[in-house]
Amino acid sequence: MNMTDSKHDELFCANHPDRATMLRCNRCEKPICTSCAVQTPTGYRCRDCVRSQQKVFDTAVGTDYIFGILIAGILSFIGSYIVTFIGFFTILLAPVIGTIIAEAVRRAVKKRRSRQLFLYTTAAAVVGSLPVLLLMLLRPNLFSLLWQGLYTFLMASTLYYRLSGIQINR
Ligand SMILES: [Zn+2]
Ligand SMILES: [Zn+2]
Repeated sequence: MNMTDSKHDELFCANHPDRATMLRCNRCEKPICTSCAVQTPTGYRCRDCVRSQQKVFDTAVGTDYIFGILIAGILSFIGSYIVTFIGFFTILLAPVIGTIIAEAVRRAVKKRRSRQLFLYTTAAAVVGSLPVLLLMLLRPNLFSLLWQGLYTFLMASTLYYRLSGIQINR
């Protein structure tokens, strides 16, 4: 089948045969409609190609998840304990702790990576910061609760950003 011999040849999306389209995946060349196209730094691609490309970058192995979760949980717990003493300086310290956790995890997993690993690691860091926060609830003090909450948020968002910010396909 030759699709290029006539300008009047209409293309139809490979996933939605009822949708005419002008787009093709720039990797496998199959026609895709706008809702199937994913914009990548190198042009429009179909979801299958994006997914298989993603797998190449997902290098994490089983033990990486255990390391990531343990390191993030423990360091985050230590950080949340420190926060109980420093009040306002939480704003400065929380991102530093997030960065330290990210570096520690990256070293432990030898820079292997996957989106799940980043998500689990960040979730473990959030969970690790909760025991101190829950203890705070026993003798509520608005400010210490505020700093703990801020710690969890700043530390976890820095951690996730640091882990995933080194992606090749951003
Ligand atoms: Zn494709
Ligand atoms: Zn489509």
